Amino acid sequence: MEGRAVRLQGLRKTFGETVAVDGVDLEIRDGEFFSMLGPSGSGKTTVLRLIAGFETPTEGRIELAGQEVTGLAPFERDVHTVFQDYALFPHMTVEQNVAYALKIRKVPKAERLRQAREALAQVRLEGYGSRRPAQLSGGQRQRVALARALVGRPRVLLLDEPLGALDLKLREQMQLELKALQREVGITFVFVTHDQEEALTMSDRIAVFRQGRLEQVGTPAEIYERPATSFVASFVGTSNLLGGEAARRVLGTDGTHSIRPEKIRVLKESAIADEPGHATATGTVAEVVYLGDSTRFLVDLDAGGRLTALQQNLETSAEDVAAFRGARVRLAWHRRHTVPVPDAR
Ligand code: ATP
Repeated sequence: MEGRAVRLQGLRKTFGETVAVDGVDLEIRDGEFFSMLGPSGSGKTTVLRLIAGFETPTEGRIELAGQEVTGLAPFERDVHTVFQDYALFPHMTVEQNVAYALKIRKVPKAERLRQAREALAQVRLEGYGSRRPAQLSGGQRQRVALARALVGRPRVLLLDEPLGALDLKLREQMQLELKALQREVGITFVFVTHDQEEALTMSDRIAVFRQGRLEQVGTPAEIYERPATSFVASFVGTSNLLGGEAARRVLGTDGTHSIRPEKIRVLKESAIADEPGHATATGTVAEVVYLGDSTRFLVDLDAGGRLTALQQNLETSAEDVAAFRGARVRLAWHRRHTVPVPDAR
């Protein structure tokens, strides 16, 4: 069907006793940057390998661009996988690595070279074609792997933690580059990561996995601002939950609620607390962490429970911050930032 790059229906995969994927239904749109996010062992890599055709589902159905591919071999699917270790051929030059798939397809040499150079230009590696992978940095090797994937013009690019081996600075730079590249080429990217910040930064939509099942699918803002379950609230962003007796006393309601740390203001205990639409709670600062651009307060509430509040350091200095340890404070936030998080299971 037009507009739908990937469709998974009732997908299940077991390895002996282990249920790796436990009934996943999912649709990924054409041209989307789609991330599969979850803790280690939650099944995201297995779903990627099922889409690629490296694994066969125990149950369920896989469609690519409206065509069922469930039983097809990897090379019969219009997808390409980029692995974390890049899997470049060490004895070949960069250009030969990139052109390899075209050679297999018997594309004439001049055309192969032209396409390989174009793909290398897309990943900003003009002039590196005659080097070997060992003569490149980690980030450059990553780019070669991308160029090799792009040269075949797959409909869907599958990426398994492709930035996992890079250090933080390079990783952040590559996140932006990868996102820009995806926009430019317009290919559907399905991206596996366990890093919530990475998923929030890059994705059009995110699927959050837990124990082989989907916990929530949505845009980064939906996932972050409206977590569907307490698991999503804790896994994406800082866990900041108010439940039980504390919820009853502070919010006047039952159930578990998520409040994002940056929505909470830290005030003097004596501050007037009756602003309309606001919730407020008094407590003692258990820990305070100076983060340069902001400060994190961990506050033990008188009502029970602990909340984290994140304040921008507009005027605060490191010395001011230290004085807060053990201080009595009042936390305040607008009630619209209190999100009930029913547990899906
Ligand atoms: P990670 O981030 O650590 O890669 P993941 O979310 O990608 O984790 P999967 O690799 O999909 O998780 O694994 C899901 C479950 O399936 C795990 O319990 C894992 O041990 C199991 N599993 C995956 N592949 C195999 C296999 N080939 N044989 C046996 N068990 C497997």
